[in-house]
Amino acid sequence: MSLAKRNQAKSIDLERPHTCDFCQKSFVKESTLVTHSCEPKRRWQNQNQQEVKLGFAAWQMFHTSISPRSGTKAKKTYQEFCASSVYGAFVKFGSWCVENRAQEFECWVKWLLDHNIKIDAWCNTQQYQQYLADLLLSEKSEQAVGRGLGTINQWAQETRKPWTSFFQDVNINVAVRWIQEGRISGWLLFNAPSSEQFFLRCTPEQLTLIEKTLPIRKWKIMFLRHQQESLAIRDTLKESGL
Ligand SMILES: [Zn+2]
Repeated sequence: MSLAKRNQAKSIDLERPHTCDFCQKSFVKESTLVTHSCEPKRRWQNQNQQEVKLGFAAWQMFHTSISPRSGTKAKKTYQEFCASSVYGAFVKFGSWCVENRAQEFECWVKWLLDHNIKIDAWCNTQQYQQYLADLLLSEKSEQAVGRGLGTINQWAQETRKPWTSFFQDVNINVAVRWIQEGRISGWLLFNAPSSEQFFLRCTPEQLTLIEKTLPIRKWKIMFLRHQQESLAIRDTLKESGL
């Protein structure tokens, strides 16, 4: 490099030495760069927020679904997500899922993709209820029972009561809400021996609400179709004391 060129490079560096890595804007003072805020930088800084993580995960699933062959390539990066025009829409969806306590996030995104619903229409309560009804009757029993036991364990920790006393001691209104939210599935509710006492404590109105989420006729058919599985779960729950 000639001396003139070297001097020129040096003088440019000295004039504008502090450049934002995200938007490439340059600043004379370092302190201005530190306090500087721009959309790409904000997106980068927010990457560990729950709604952003969910939005990013959904966006990755969306890309895998539209180009299945790219699964063999490296997954899309967070940087690519930040630069995407649908960043805002996916993060909004992530927030919606946090607020509405969406259950089994991956199944939910897969359901939306399978139904060819456009991202702008993903935050929709009616649609979510439809998904939840489908999920409860189609998911694997292990997933359903695992989710229910997780909910019961959380209840036991918060109330400092033994988890096996859940159906005797839980506040009925709270439990009905958890059933409506899909957190306690028919696989657990109808197979736990102590749930008989729970049903005795319910009012007719509460039983109607439960029936709406978990239609007993459909569940009876399900248990007949998966008789051995159902009996095995019943035995395990009985042994555990629930
Ligand atoms: Zn910037």
